[in-house]
Amino acid sequence: MRLQGKVTLITGSGSGIGKSTALLFAKEGAIVVVNDLSEEHGRGTVKEIEEAGGQAAFIQADVTNPESVSAMTDQIIAKFGRIDVLFNNAGISGVGQLHEIEPDDWDRVMNVNIRGVFLPSKYVLPHMMERKSGSIINMSSCIAEIGLARRASYAATKGAVLALTKSMQVDYAPYHIRVNALLPGTIMTPFVEKYLKESYSDEAAAIEGLKKRQLSESLGRPEDVAKAALFLASDESTFVMGAPLYVDGGAVFGKNA
Ligand code: NAD
Repeated sequence: MRLQGKVTLITGSGSGIGKSTALLFAKEGAIVVVNDLSEEHGRGTVKEIEEAGGQAAFIQADVTNPESVSAMTDQIIAKFGRIDVLFNNAGISGVGQLHEIEPDDWDRVMNVNIRGVFLPSKYVLPHMMERKSGSIINMSSCIAEIGLARRASYAATKGAVLALTKSMQVDYAPYHIRVNALLPGTIMTPFVEKYLKESYSDEAAAIEGLKKRQLSESLGRPEDVAKAALFLASDESTFVMGAPLYVDGGAVFGKNA
């Protein structure tokens, strides 16, 4: 039980990496607050946790909306008294070369992927500062480190999240709050399946292409990222601060041939 009794908030945990992390955190003894825009998916995660004997609650909130995020934070504090771990996971994809992107689409990706990290952090941090304890995990991506075709808006957001993580860490280290970033490679989730469908006519060929970007023979699974999040959430990573943790099958540092 690596998170016994810890109150954890995972944004966007109705699906994919967030859902897998919610299930793992609960298995490790955490009280998991599942947040998502989708009530159906969020409640689905809670149901799976409860069926496995874990403890969870769902709060529907849009991470880009200050009133919703502030109300969600108040609700968690009222019910559980504290927030030990915040995983800023919710995010959306953005596809296209810069000159093809419509301004509204650009703003939407910025809004969810950057403002959606800013707002939950803004409202949760004062509670962590008061207790002088906490771990925040920000979802970046290995795209923050490498150029990938037709991903301009998405790459800009994930680079911003990585920079934000380092700044946050400096400001909140005096409060014993750790802030780290996860940089996954390609992880097979509904998010990637949608991107593949939208971007390629031959999905199987596209998957083979994605594998060429990395050293691992298979694409990542949500559980692979969940295990890294567990490490950052737990006291095992006490000396890990402001760090990017790559979970990418060798995409950033490896080179095939
Ligand atoms: P996913 O689409 O399966 O899950 C994302 C969840 O976030 C969805 O349930 C969605 O409803 C929720 N969400 C979206 N906007 C929201 C909002 N405004 N408020 C609250 N919830 C919202 O995606 P995933 O692949 O699990 O991705 C999770 C995170 O990991 C994202 O930040 C993504 O950018 C990042 N990431 C994914 C990959 C990958 O290959 N899958 C790689 C690197 C980084």
